[in-house]
Amino acid sequence: MTKEELWQAALARLQFSVSRANFAAWFKEAVILDWQGDSVSIGTPNSFSQEWLKKKYHSDILKALNEVCSKIKKVDYFVSKQNRTRAEVSPPVPVNTKQIQFEEFQLNPRTGLNTRYNFKDFIVASFNEMAFAAAEAVVREPGRAYNPLFVYGGVGLGKTHLLQAVGNKLDEEDEMKIRYISADKLVSQIVASIYERSIESLKKELQQLDVLIVDDIQFIAGKEKTQEEFFHVFNALYEKNSQIILSSDRLPSAIPALEKRLKSRFEGGMVVDISRPDYESRRAILETKVKEWKAEIDSEVLDYVATNIQNNVRELEGALRRLIAHQNIKKNKLNTEVAQKVLKDLTRTQTKSASPQKIISSVADFYDLDLKDLTSATRKKDVAFPRQIAMYLLRKDLKKSYLSIGNLFGGRDHTTVIYACHKIEKEVDQDGRLADEVSMIRQRIYGE
Ligand code: ADP
Ligand code: MG
Repeated sequence: MTKEELWQAALARLQFSVSRANFAAWFKEAVILDWQGDSVSIGTPNSFSQEWLKKKYHSDILKALNEVCSKIKKVDYFVSKQNRTRAEVSPPVPVNTKQIQFEEFQLNPRTGLNTRYNFKDFIVASFNEMAFAAAEAVVREPGRAYNPLFVYGGVGLGKTHLLQAVGNKLDEEDEMKIRYISADKLVSQIVASIYERSIESLKKELQQLDVLIVDDIQFIAGKEKTQEEFFHVFNALYEKNSQIILSSDRLPSAIPALEKRLKSRFEGGMVVDISRPDYESRRAILETKVKEWKAEIDSEVLDYVATNIQNNVRELEGALRRLIAHQNIKKNKLNTEVAQKVLKDLTRTQTKSASPQKIISSVADFYDLDLKDLTSATRKKDVAFPRQIAMYLLRKDLKKSYLSIGNLFGGRDHTTVIYACHKIEKEVDQDGRLADEVSMIRQRIYGE
């Protein structure tokens, strides 16, 4: 195996455990500079990403490399000028002549759309057919059929894919001014433009659009200034029959700290959900992706995956990538037994393998803290937050009593624990980045 093949196979694993945004931000431009026996040197484009990989992802990276080649025990990080540019990263280096298609980032700078997302690759089955039908109607009659179109559903179910497919299709067919933006980007643009006193020109720019797509709109929860400005943009667009498309992880009525008037605007058009795919849908997705990626996987193995990976499309894709990578490296076809081993950590149900100690040590590890500091009474500021996270996980995942959680942290009062659990619960709900962080910690707790 060459170092490129090694990295490619490790990325196939990492891509599953890391969110799409984080993967794009931290892994796309990293390379293996050198691989000697048990030791791997990773090159990063700058010192910030060097730090970040080392701090946040070291154990994920080591684990992924180690799974591909069990000899590997040591990983170091360097800033390197040798890094390939984005354009050269995709398509990826072939693994034994066959290529695994990673998510390619083909950003259209005019629209903000990723041209990779299209209707052709969007698989329609019972779990998403309503959302798909609504999206098609919007393509046929933008601004007239359903306005706004509000698509909601859990992570990895294809909301972003569907929204962007609509945008790309309209962009192909008509001369329309289209803008795709994620709500957290929109929030930072609005905040920055208020600060720079350019909010009026930003609003004007947005109000000229024919199609505005805002992804993950739940992130404007609690952002009052943004909501205020967005309300005006929304109305201006609506009045001139520009199409507005929104996605969210929940219904408008369930978004906390969202102004009433926005809630009712969001509910005023078409609200459709994407639910979790049933077995038939999961099987169809796997079947189609295998063809799309030009791989061959036994039908028995696909049955196994469809039965055991149930949450969402992204997890199905992740499992499939991993199987394909494995098959390519071992050069022979997988059977169910091997697939079971390769996917062990994805199929195991949570809570089974967690213990309070495991949770606490994973949190300490993630935030790079001493276990002693985390569980002692110290009031050091950088310990307080991780400690609250640990309390939250103990409560949420192990259903420990507040009293017993307090005891694990040097006999803290149960009211302190209650406060911590509620606070983190709320923040996780409102802050996507924190939600990502918590899921990365869970990955450590349950992933091994
Ligand atoms: P969400 O925005 O709901 O979290 P995404 O749109 O990012 O989900 O989808 C996660 C991954 O699954 C993406 O790679 C996407 O292309 C793929 N995917 C989701 N739904 C479908 C589908 N119906 N057909 C094909 N691929 C899909
Ligand atoms: Mg999304």
